[in-house]
Amino acid sequence: MTTKDGRPFDRASLDYLMRRRLFYTPSFEIYGGVSGLYDYGPPGASLQANIIDVWRKHFVREEDMLEVDCAILTPHEVLMTSGHVDQFSDWLCKDLQTGEIFRADHLVEEVLKSRLESNLESRGHQNEGEIEKEKKRKRTKTARLNDDVVQEYQEILAKIDNYNGEELGLLMKKHDVRNPVTGGELLPPVPFNLMFQTSIGPSSNAPGYLRPETAQGQFLNFQKLLDFNNETMPFASASIGKSFRNEIAPKSGLLRVREFLMAEIEHFVDPEGGKKHHRFNEVKHIELDLLTRDVQLAGKSRVQPMSVGRAVEAEIIDNETLGYFLARIQLFLETIGVDKKKLRFRQHMRNEMAHYATDCWDAELLTSYGWVECVGCADRSAYDLSVHAKRTGAPLVVREPRKEPLRIEEWHVDLDRKIFGPKFKKDGKVVEDTIKALTQDTLKKLLIELKKEGKITIDVNGIGSGKVQLDKDLINIEKRTRLEHRREYIPNVIEPSFGIGRILYALIEHNFWVRPENESRYVISFPPIVAPTKLLIVPISTQDWWAPTVRRLSNKLRSLGISSRVDYSATSIGRRYARNDELGTPFGLTIDFQSLKDNTFTLRDRDTMRQVRASEEEICEAVRNLTEGTETWQDVAIRLPAFERQDVD
Ligand code: AMP
Repeated sequence: MTTKDGRPFDRASLDYLMRRRLFYTPSFEIYGGVSGLYDYGPPGASLQANIIDVWRKHFVREEDMLEVDCAILTPHEVLMTSGHVDQFSDWLCKDLQTGEIFRADHLVEEVLKSRLESNLESRGHQNEGEIEKEKKRKRTKTARLNDDVVQEYQEILAKIDNYNGEELGLLMKKHDVRNPVTGGELLPPVPFNLMFQTSIGPSSNAPGYLRPETAQGQFLNFQKLLDFNNETMPFASASIGKSFRNEIAPKSGLLRVREFLMAEIEHFVDPEGGKKHHRFNEVKHIELDLLTRDVQLAGKSRVQPMSVGRAVEAEIIDNETLGYFLARIQLFLETIGVDKKKLRFRQHMRNEMAHYATDCWDAELLTSYGWVECVGCADRSAYDLSVHAKRTGAPLVVREPRKEPLRIEEWHVDLDRKIFGPKFKKDGKVVEDTIKALTQDTLKKLLIELKKEGKITIDVNGIGSGKVQLDKDLINIEKRTRLEHRREYIPNVIEPSFGIGRILYALIEHNFWVRPENESRYVISFPPIVAPTKLLIVPISTQDWWAPTVRRLSNKLRSLGISSRVDYSATSIGRRYARNDELGTPFGLTIDFQSLKDNTFTLRDRDTMRQVRASEEEICEAVRNLTEGTETWQDVAIRLPAFERQDVD
């Protein structure tokens, strides 16, 4: 991977910077830490808050979404009904000898990738003597792979997310995948549920879980939200909060953790009429880089750039609402400073989709760890509302008056109560319930039998022989017409689901670079809108006489809603700026002796290190425009006089 300016990306330097400047740090570190748990320090926490702020404005406010904040502790029954207890699992395999545990798909991926890399390296030495090549192969303990095997590995890697446990087991056997450190054999993959279990209350008979997603709370409140929305469809709810997953092998810093902040939208839409979106026109021209299911199944990873309008028309993206959100996700990611060249939308393969999804696209961001899913956008159909309604009896449905009443012809059953009651006595209720549950097709067939035989026989569970005979003087079946004035349906759900930690980390990587003229000067070019601090105030020296001016400027900026920090340290101005370039602070304001005389100040741009000099009024206005995004640095640099002195170390 390369940085924005095309130079090689150096992860070790970034990791060092993250820790040194307290962007984030392992939780409970002085107790040895727990893998997959991190704390955010001041710049990380502020960056996260700013990303969330943009998210709220971009999605919740822009579309009048109904934001909710639901309980994290969730009873067993809810997650049993949603399918998470049985199906929210990854595949793990164990090395019996060492006791080590691996996540099966990640292990296969890691082993095949490293074999391909070693193969490439040994091929790179083709011009060396045969002895040298042989030595290299022995060192890397890798047999040279023939072209067929290379292709097979590449195809497996392209669809690695599509294999179930059994298939992963077969792949491991076929390609001799073992413990990469000891070479020990591994047991076949078994499912491991990712939810953290607990019990709610003092008795242990109320099991529960820490929620694995924020979605369920939104589904369970559907009826109340619909009511709040004056029974108007479509509408969306949104929620920002922590979710928990007991990952088998947390890794790659913030990318795979056990506790993370999610921002999720549940957009409820009428399944009839092609799931149109009334604002689709606004986004249909937007180009997305799509990696479709078919391309992956063919073992390839080539993206197709395509407008979202064209992709929906060609049925590559299933419907307008899904397409609308993919485009809006791209716009959001661009706004916070994600590099568009490192963004693609990957469609899920059938086996890969979560148990509730009918179509799903992931917004993936390229990082030094490879492509990482940062936002999932799934069409969950009517799955969740249906299962919860069935389990609880709650009417999680929309009831709408029809414009035109609908004429419905249907088979209808009448029972002669005077005969029915005495005949079936205590079994009457179960027989009647069974008759009521007969389908229209069955009733049609039974009518033919009734006319022909003068009686019908039906199966009734839970009584004597399990069969009941009904004579024509007791039952009548006939077709009737009724007018339906109200329509009832279960909405479908389109769910964009954002992992804020992953987005935050990818954003840092995309904006991190090193000044070419000085390899020890790191910069993170956050756009002002998300930068943890917008402005650094730098008095030229530490003497007291600067204090009143600093205070006045700080107060003024605060009243303009601009977060600033003052650096009073005794080091050079250049060093102070360099320290804040690392934190991604986009602008710097210097107070020097000239300022005390004529109330002018210099304003410095982090990325170009260029400066302008102007009056207090003009500088404050420029800072406000720059942080609100109504002006760019280029605009300001044209408007205000340049100040030529460069950073001094
Ligand atoms: P999912 O429900 O699995 O599609 O996850 C939704 C989003 O949550 C993903 O797109 C990720 O951004 C994020 N996510 C899922 N699992 C993790 C994890 N273990 N660590 C950090 N983020 C995660």
